Amino acid sequence: MKHLFFGGIHPKYNKEMSTKTTEFHTIAPKQAVIPMQQHIGAPCTPLVKVGDRVRIGQRIGDGEGLCVPVHASVSGKVLAIEERPHPTLGKCLAVVIENDFRNELCTMAIPKSKDEILHTIRDAGIVGMGGAAFPGNVKALSAMGKVDTLIANACECEPYITADDSLLRTEPEHVLEGMAILKELLQPSRLVLAVEDNKAQAIEKLHSILGSYPDIELAVLPTRYPQGAEKQLIQALTGREVCPGQLPVSVGCAVFNVSTFAAIYRAVRLGKALTQRIVTVSGEAISEPQNFIVPIGTSFHDLVEAAGGLHDRTERVISGGPMMGVAQSDLRVPVVKATNSILCLLKDLNGAAENPVCLRCGKCVGVCPMKLQPLYLYRFTNAKRTDELNRLHILDCIECGCCSFTCPGKLPLTETFRKGKKLVREANKK
Ligand code: SF4
Ligand code: SF4
Repeated sequence: MKHLFFGGIHPKYNKEMSTKTTEFHTIAPKQAVIPMQQHIGAPCTPLVKVGDRVRIGQRIGDGEGLCVPVHASVSGKVLAIEERPHPTLGKCLAVVIENDFRNELCTMAIPKSKDEILHTIRDAGIVGMGGAAFPGNVKALSAMGKVDTLIANACECEPYITADDSLLRTEPEHVLEGMAILKELLQPSRLVLAVEDNKAQAIEKLHSILGSYPDIELAVLPTRYPQGAEKQLIQALTGREVCPGQLPVSVGCAVFNVSTFAAIYRAVRLGKALTQRIVTVSGEAISEPQNFIVPIGTSFHDLVEAAGGLHDRTERVISGGPMMGVAQSDLRVPVVKATNSILCLLKDLNGAAENPVCLRCGKCVGVCPMKLQPLYLYRFTNAKRTDELNRLHILDCIECGCCSFTCPGKLPLTETFRKGKKLVREANKK
C-alpha cells in the first residue's frame, strides 16, 4: 500500500534533456583536485606530500572521528597541496594530482565478516551520494539490528537530474547487489527500491532482472517533489512519520541513495574505493546535455566543455538541482562525492522579485512537506526573533524550495530560512 506525504509540488522536470543516450561519456582530466572535506564531519588530513606518485584508489587523506578517507581518482604525481575552490564550502584544502594517464590501480582486500564489511565501507570513503554526504559506515552501524525496512532511494525528484536514473538503466545489478550486502549487515525484513513513475526505462530494466532478487520489492511512486527527501520517502512507503529532530532509524527505517548502494557493491565485492561518480550536465544553457562518469576531482569547467560549452546568455551554473542546488561563481571547482549534477540555466528558476511582497495567500503553507508556516518564518527571520523561529520549528526546514517555487509574491523564502536556521543555531548554543 502506498501512502502520500503532505505538501509538495509538480515543477517541470526536464529530465528528457539528458536521457537521450543510455551511454555514459567519460572524461580523463589532466588534473584532479581532491578536497580534504567531502563529507559531513571532520576534514581529512593529507597523507601524501608534493612530488609523491599515487595510484587510483590510493588513500591520500584521512582523519579521526566522524570522517571517511579520500582517495586519488587518477594515477600520477602530487603537484600541490593547497586551498582550492570547493562547490559547497567556498574554499578547502585539496590535493592536486597531475594525471599520467597510466590508470594504475590500488585495490582493497575483499572483506568477509560483518565487521570487515563495515570497515571496508569506511576505508572506501563511501558517503551518501544523493547530496547528504553522510559517512556510509556510520549510518549502517547506527541501523544494525534496529530497522525492519531498508530503502534504496532512486526517486531523484529534483528537475533535470538523471544520474541515478542512468545508473539504473545501465548498471542496476550493482545497486541490487549493494542492497544484498546491507541486508546481511542490517537484517531488515523488508527491502524496497523506490523509484518515481517518470523513469520508465529504468523501471522496465529493473523488472527484467528483479526475478533474480526475490526479496527486493520495487515501489513505483507517483512523481512529486520532494519525494526523494528521506522523511517524505519513508512516509510515502510505510506511512510512518519521523518526528522533528529524529532520524529514520527511530521509525525502523534506513535510507541510502542508489548510487551509494552501487559504491558499496564496488568496494565490498571488487575492492574499489569511491573514486568516480555519475554527473548529469544539463540545462537550457548547455549545448549537449548528458550524463558523464568522471573521476572525483574533475573540474566543472572540464565537464561543461565536454558537454559542448555554455550558451552566451548563461545566467546561472548550479551544483545540484534548481530547487536545492548551490550556485557557482568559479567553474574551477571540482566534482566531489556528492556532486550529482551541474545545471546550466539561462534564467534563475526561483529568482526573487526586486520588491517581493507577501500577499498572505497561504500557498506556501499548503506545499511545505514539513508542515511549517513559511510566511511567518520569513517575517520572524527578518526580525531576528529566534524564540518564535524555534517555536515554529524552523530547524525542521529541509530547504526543499517548494515554498519559494510556489510564492506568487516572489519572496526569497528558502534563502531566508538558511539564514534563519543559522541564527537559531547560534542562539540555541548560547
Ligand atoms: S506564498 Fe508567498 S505570498 Fe503567499 S503567504 Fe506564502 S509568503 Fe506570502
Ligand atoms: S524550504 Fe522549508 S519552509 Fe519552504 S517548503 Fe521546504 S521545508 Fe517548508
